[in-house]
Amino acid sequence: MQTPKYKRIILKLSGEALAGEKKAGIDENYLSLICDKISEVYKLGVEIAIVVGGGNFWRGRSGKSMDRTTADHMGMLATVINALALQDALESRNIPTRVQTAIEMRQIAEPYIRRRAVRHLEKKRIVIFACGTGNPYFTTDTTTALRAAEIDAEVILMAKNVDGIYDSDPVKNPDAKKFDKLSYMDILGNRLGAMDSTATSLCMDNNIPIIFFGLDKPENIVKVVLGENIGTIIS
Ligand code: UDP
Repeated sequence: MQTPKYKRIILKLSGEALAGEKKAGIDENYLSLICDKISEVYKLGVEIAIVVGGGNFWRGRSGKSMDRTTADHMGMLATVINALALQDALESRNIPTRVQTAIEMRQIAEPYIRRRAVRHLEKKRIVIFACGTGNPYFTTDTTTALRAAEIDAEVILMAKNVDGIYDSDPVKNPDAKKFDKLSYMDILGNRLGAMDSTATSLCMDNNIPIIFFGLDKPENIVKVVLGENIGTIIS
């Protein structure tokens, strides 16, 4: 069996990652591909926590004329839909999971309790964190940084729709240069836009490395865990 580089990871899946080609909602085929790869990582014995976004349904900033707090509450609820879809897909692969929400909805999922989350991980259950931090004006990237610190994850795996961090938008600029390695200050100082500053500074203050990689190839999740140098690492 191959040896994973990490014992405990936190994987950030943006809402868009679950939408596949559809760009909105959930593409069940794509979700299935992603869960096959998460299942491979699980079988390597890695403890896995997942933070899921909600952008495939709603982002706070989509509500232009809305009260920001209300719009953000809607965004946090969107993450719950994705968390339940992930849970369903993982459990259909016989992987025990727990969804924990930062806003209580006990009929649907457990409330977020750090000690319980850690216990689930120790018992080899995948924990899916929904509702972000539970607070408006934050993002699920910041949630990932926060939960990573709380549960002592060794690394954050940021699965994105681009295969790393570039000096300019690779979609608009064909000459954009990809970075293999960056420091937290590079992200903060150059305003590279890969991750918001709150999330970046939280990782910097707590020394949590982040690996950005593309989820266009779902097998990248396994490669990163096995220590292959793909994407961009921030440390
Ligand atoms: N959100 C929030 N607080 C949080 C996390 C998320 O208010 O702690 C809201 C915010 O409106 C955000 C939306 O939930 O736009 C969905 O999260 P995000 O945009 O991070 O999802 P992603 O882009 O990863 O799909």
